[in-house]
Amino acid sequence: MSEIRKISIILDNRSYEYDVYTLVIAFFQGVETRVYDPGQEIPADTDLLVDVKLDCTGEQAGGQEQTIVPALSISLRGPGESGVEGDAPERIEPVPDADNRPLMKNILKRTLYEMLREYCKRDLPWGNLTGIRPVKLAMDLLHPSEESSSDPAQDAASYARRKMTERYYVSDRKADLAVRIAQRESAILEKIRPKEGFSLYVGIPFCPSICLYCSFSSSPLKLWEKKVDEYLDALEKEIRSSGNCFPGRRLQTVYVGGGTPTTLEPYQLERLLTVIEETFDMSGVLEYTVEAGRPDSITREKLEVLRRHHISRISINPQTMNQKTLDLIGRRHTVEQTKEAFLLARSMGFDNINMDLIVGLPGEGIREVEHTMEEIETLDPDDVTVHALALKRAARLALHMDEYEKISFKVSDDIMRRCEEGCERLQMTPYYLYRQKNIAGNFENVGYAKSHKAGLYNILIMEEVQCILACGASGSTKIVYDDGRIERIENVKDIRSYLDRIDEMIDRKNPIR
Ligand code: SF4
Repeated sequence: MSEIRKISIILDNRSYEYDVYTLVIAFFQGVETRVYDPGQEIPADTDLLVDVKLDCTGEQAGGQEQTIVPALSISLRGPGESGVEGDAPERIEPVPDADNRPLMKNILKRTLYEMLREYCKRDLPWGNLTGIRPVKLAMDLLHPSEESSSDPAQDAASYARRKMTERYYVSDRKADLAVRIAQRESAILEKIRPKEGFSLYVGIPFCPSICLYCSFSSSPLKLWEKKVDEYLDALEKEIRSSGNCFPGRRLQTVYVGGGTPTTLEPYQLERLLTVIEETFDMSGVLEYTVEAGRPDSITREKLEVLRRHHISRISINPQTMNQKTLDLIGRRHTVEQTKEAFLLARSMGFDNINMDLIVGLPGEGIREVEHTMEEIETLDPDDVTVHALALKRAARLALHMDEYEKISFKVSDDIMRRCEEGCERLQMTPYYLYRQKNIAGNFENVGYAKSHKAGLYNILIMEEVQCILACGASGSTKIVYDDGRIERIENVKDIRSYLDRIDEMIDRKNPIR
């Protein structure tokens, strides 16, 4: 196959744009890909043209609309007239009911996946699934409404695995992973009854420096140092006025994240945690997390504040234990600082410490990942979250890709396995999983945890089974209704706007009071 540098997609129904675009770029990561309407001019240097026709209705003589082509048509064409290399340059699939969106989407994704697989001569680990929550699907398949509802548990798992591989072309390994996680999550959720409670998220949008791959709304502390107290004033106002949100539900988990909450000075951390505890009834809280995050922001004094406030879970995130990579990605801390922060927290009694890792960082292959895992195994944390690098649009790394193109970005099955094996040696099992757009190698992010150390908030946010109250700049409050509908109330992302419009952020939460 000749090299593909530019892909053009012609799509006659933009409501399926996300599905088509995401599936195409999953096969051709990093290739410039654009979607066009029929009739729009296509760039002459297009290497692969994907033409998808879903519009199955036409005008009958006399102007009355009716279905004239009950079919979906997809063609893949290379430059010129000759079509693509491969056996199936065009396929026309009958669509039994074009108004049935889930059915239409299913046929579209299956057909497109089969054609791209044939063209590229390879499969994707997650098959034609383009969503970020494949475990949710496994969960639904584990609890099917009809078909195998009377099967014993083991059969339900086999059924779910089989459906994932047959219906969505998910690999055996990934189907097994998704089903195992769904089973573990189901058992945890059954115990905590999330619909009767809610969670609180509090965002601190400052970091010691901005990592090259970051796409969160975080700002360098240096720029905002003099405004942190002003931010806390606004945040306190928002938290205190949110105490009556979600009436009748008890608070179950608290997550202070960001950014890096431990960029706050000890007196500021003290103030924030006191405000939270004075506002909400903490007696039913099952998990109280502070994402310490960057090792360079952690001090004994700050950890003492967290201990005094009975924080049950913290994160100390190395991302990699290779100094060369840390320097390259702008973390501005050392491997030694990570170890020191971890050992200090352990010595002070923190018994649930998570460490976040990223695979696919520039210049890192299996050897570098192996080194990171060896170091992590020596430290022996309680949970580890392995992220496959995702280059979102906002990340400086994506914006300056040209500067880094000589450095490789590799994620392979071997690398993912090496992480999995390391976590297994630490007696951890996978407990939550999600995917992102532009995720390296089409892999996934997986949280591993020792027994009874799984992060509840992570499960709740991923499975979307509980209302989340979010305070702080870029907080996104989530209302989960009994029928599964989800509504969001967004805070502004920009810190200055958050400070100026704090009363509006508070008023936006009126529907949940
Ligand atoms: S520590 Fe996290 S939030 Fe802060 S800049 Fe790095 S990636 Fe972004």
